[in-house]
Amino acid sequence: MEVIRSGRAGFCMGVALALKKLDDLVEKGGHVGTFGPIIHNPFVLEEYAQKGVRCFGSVQAVKEALEPFYAFSETVDAKESQMRLNLLIRAHGIPHSTEHFLRSLVHVSLMDATCPRVKEAQNSIARATQTEDGEPVTLLLFGDANHPEVDGLVSYAKGKYIISPEPEKLVEYAKKNQHEQMVLAAQTTQDRPLFDRIKQELCTVLDKKPVILETICDATKLRQEEALTIAEQVDAMVVVGGKESGNTKRLAELVFSKNIPTVLVESADELVREFFQNVKKVGLTAGASTPKRLVDEAERVLGSW
Ligand code: SF4
Repeated sequence: MEVIRSGRAGFCMGVALALKKLDDLVEKGGHVGTFGPIIHNPFVLEEYAQKGVRCFGSVQAVKEALEPFYAFSETVDAKESQMRLNLLIRAHGIPHSTEHFLRSLVHVSLMDATCPRVKEAQNSIARATQTEDGEPVTLLLFGDANHPEVDGLVSYAKGKYIISPEPEKLVEYAKKNQHEQMVLAAQTTQDRPLFDRIKQELCTVLDKKPVILETICDATKLRQEEALTIAEQVDAMVVVGGKESGNTKRLAELVFSKNIPTVLVESADELVREFFQNVKKVGLTAGASTPKRLVDEAERVLGSW
């Protein structure tokens, strides 16, 4: 089978930066953890777990892990002791209040691996959701309420916020509350054409022109565009990436929506030969959190069939 591989498959800038920070911490030694999965790829997470990196899912889990540190510091000056947890904030960011709390913990050295694009989105939401007179402004957030990045983004809003992955729901809210002042932003990995549609519709229904924050990341857009270009030239597409990864799932959905037979696999082991029986040319792409070696392996297997 001929394989056309996307040049953009694999780690984006934010993921590469986050993993570099984690690698540096691991190299220094000591107790290392991440708050939330550093990225959404099970293979990468397992590798770090093997190196002793703990992944904390909640503030409570961090507090419990620190209990032995507190017991130790009753006998030794905490500042003199080596009992510290080097905790890294995941690439998707965390809620503002959670970060504030973690920074207050004596035995925690908190470091930030939030992607610079996500950080920029958080900060612009904080600035735009308040008028110059300090009045709160409603945030309409185009995104998935269950995604950790969205949790972090809305925590920066100064007023109320409405979250939905469905443009109609956001526009419906705007229609019912047309006198309110509003800000529109998106989860960084959302679909740009849909976001543009919401922008246009809001401008027609709201009394006051909404503030638009362009928070969608170009890395996602370029990856999606390239996948669609490849999809036009092939009989089937393979997307490699974590099934928990939002951008990977969206990439697969996007290609599939163009009626191209598409499979999403976490690794080459999940490729099923029967699926490719009548396929002469296959396209290969991957989500932003997929290591290169997994894409290499998928390319090797597909090329051998
Ligand atoms: S896709 Fe964009 S916003 Fe998300 S982590 Fe990568 S560079 Fe950052």
